[in-house]
Amino acid sequence: SIKGGYKSSCTFFDEQLLLQIHEEQDIVRKMDAAMTNGEFIVYLQPKMDLRVNSFHGAEALVRWNDPQKGLISPAVFIPIFERNRFIVKLDLMVFKSVCIMLSKWIQEGIQPLPISVNISLITLYHNDFLLHLTNIINRYQVPARLIELELTESIVFQNLEFVRDILLELKRKGFSIAIDDFGTGYSSLNVLQYFPADVIKLDRAFLMSKSNDETGKIVIASMVKLARDLNMKVVAEGVETEAQIDFLKQIDCEIAQGYYFAKPMPVAEYESLIKST
Ligand code: C2E
Ligand code: MG
Ligand code: MG
Ligand code: MG
Repeated sequence: SIKGGYKSSCTFFDEQLLLQIHEEQDIVRKMDAAMTNGEFIVYLQPKMDLRVNSFHGAEALVRWNDPQKGLISPAVFIPIFERNRFIVKLDLMVFKSVCIMLSKWIQEGIQPLPISVNISLITLYHNDFLLHLTNIINRYQVPARLIELELTESIVFQNLEFVRDILLELKRKGFSIAIDDFGTGYSSLNVLQYFPADVIKLDRAFLMSKSNDETGKIVIASMVKLARDLNMKVVAEGVETEAQIDFLKQIDCEIAQGYYFAKPMPVAEYESLIKST
């Protein structure tokens, strides 16, 4: 708005902030009803096995289908839900939807490929987390080995021992553990040694910044080799170009996910995709 003949950057900033606060209030006000009304829906993004050029499974990514606003990105509401702890409910709902999907595929005789589910730090810390997961997989008769839990890299820097114990317990139950967004934080290679992860997911930004110069390529190649020597799988995230695929194959990175292959899609679309191959 123009005040006194000029637009102060301060006013502009306040307006932005005010808009953001209003949006956050709107989201918080509507979240419970949205859950009850089934407005949170799960999309799936395929992961590809580069060695055999076939599907390796998929990642479950939540969207909010708001009747007024349409599809809302998780980047908008996840940080809010992490602040007010609604994320625990949402993560469990996504986990449950994935179990229902897997159990349906098993019943239909479709060879089910593993699905990964993002788990927030807040959810992981919740007292009844393990109990809830166990109850859900028992109820839907889904083998835990079909489910991979993706934890963001920053998680592993807090309460090291506590997190390690939970991860070990999850692994005992048969779940796979993936460290998501690897390379975005202050990842040290110790993380790989200390945490019982089965998979590391190389972050898109990390891959882009490193795959452009020779030194960066060496860093990534060594990391992939180290992960493999430690018996971990490596998934490259956010792969968009043929050049990236060539590079990944060259350094023996086995699995890739990104717009180059497919964007996250509705479950029915993913189903027909895997049925057609
Ligand atoms: P993430 O787990 O690292 O997921 C990857 C994100 O990158 C997804 O964004 C995906 O759509 C996007 N992506 C995939 N391939 C490409 C590509 O080739 N290019 C580009 N530019 N982007 C690509 P999305 O779906 O918006 O999700 C954002 C983040 O929200 C996720 O990052 C994850 O941290 C979080 N999230 C999503 N669903 C859940 C959930 O159910 N629970 C929790 N706790 N977090 C979730
Ligand atoms: Mg993820
Ligand atoms: Mg990621
Ligand atoms: Mg992320």
